[in-house]
Amino acid sequence: ETKRAVARLRQDFPILHRTVHGKPLVYLDNAATSQKPQCVIECEARYYAQLNANIHRGVHSLSQQATEAYEAARDTVRRFIHTERREEIVFVRGTTEAINLVATSYGQGLRPGDEILITEMEHHSNIVPWQLLCERSGAVLRVAPIDDAGELRLDAFERLLGPATRLVALTHLSNALGTINPVKRLVALAHAAGAVVLVDGAQAVAHLPVDVQELDCDFYAFSGHKLYGPTGIGVLYGKAALLDAMPPWQGGGDMIREVTFARTSYNDLPYKFEAGTPHIAGGIALGAAIDYVGMVGLPAIAAHEHALLAYATEQAAGMAGLRLIGTARDKASILSFTVEGVHPHDVGTILDDEGVAVRTGHHCAMPVMAHFGVPATVRASFALYNTVEEVDVLLRAIRRAQEVFG
Ligand code: PMP
Repeated sequence: ETKRAVARLRQDFPILHRTVHGKPLVYLDNAATSQKPQCVIECEARYYAQLNANIHRGVHSLSQQATEAYEAARDTVRRFIHTERREEIVFVRGTTEAINLVATSYGQGLRPGDEILITEMEHHSNIVPWQLLCERSGAVLRVAPIDDAGELRLDAFERLLGPATRLVALTHLSNALGTINPVKRLVALAHAAGAVVLVDGAQAVAHLPVDVQELDCDFYAFSGHKLYGPTGIGVLYGKAALLDAMPPWQGGGDMIREVTFARTSYNDLPYKFEAGTPHIAGGIALGAAIDYVGMVGLPAIAAHEHALLAYATEQAAGMAGLRLIGTARDKASILSFTVEGVHPHDVGTILDDEGVAVRTGHHCAMPVMAHFGVPATVRASFALYNTVEEVDVLLRAIRRAQEVFG
């Protein structure tokens, strides 16, 4: 039944029909970016063919229709992460920009000696903006360690929280390890210490239902392109009271109410944080991507991917010379490993010969690599359209790499 459903869904993704080196594409690099269904591709094309106009400005019909479509997409995002207030949804370029927005704007309130707490499993985009903020403000960066399964050490996390902690930034789902963090619990701990919490949801939104009210996080960031949507569009959710008190971070058109050379007043939320012409087509197509995910159903997607991950993990664990990196109890979608005696890039090249796309490298998480004492790993990451047969192709290709280089 699932098998037939997945076969049907695969028809929605034109790229899955192409070949690489004469072999059917086996796309297992979904944590880097997911493929796009036809409805998303068509939605973006339809915008340019039928609706293209700048938004929030014109009285002419096209501009009004484009504005309505863009704002309808904002409502789709709002419902997707379960907030009631559309002013809490800020469109940005992606997760990276969302985090930089908070670091730049909210960060203006930080003083020397204030502390920012992150974790050892963060993506560089949830490390470097905080380092830059520390340099500007004199705040201090603290890092909660992980254990050898790739789980956050809760005792250490709790111990690192204190009266000086102003901000906690952590990932919902690790892109290098697949670890799912117990965000709701961590948010409660951080709040008890008086800190606000930013959650990096770049990996999570395509794999887990996310309810920002239930998590009670203060900020939640994600990218459209890992959620079957376009590149160049993403979302920052922020609690209205916080966003309202924050200064703008970029100046320009759309984010103002009135401009004179003496003084400028700012627009209401969320527009205060949306200077300039945004990625209109991208926003509208992100709405289409979220509708698509809603149609398939995140619980069904999660169950299917979980079964794939369980199968892949079991098979990989039985292969000699394979070392799994990231064995948390609560995991999703990601199988990260090294092959004894073969450099990850060589594994990746052999896999590519077989049509298998995986990511090899440090996955923008060099501290995670350092923790496990490896320069890089091979990472296979699953999406709703992957199959058990594709996992078998992956495993056969790994064996081939072992034969070639072993
Ligand atoms: N955080 C995590 C956990 C990620 O996996 C990624 C993307 N690899 C990012 C942040 C950055 O996302 P983007 O490049 O779309 O801004």
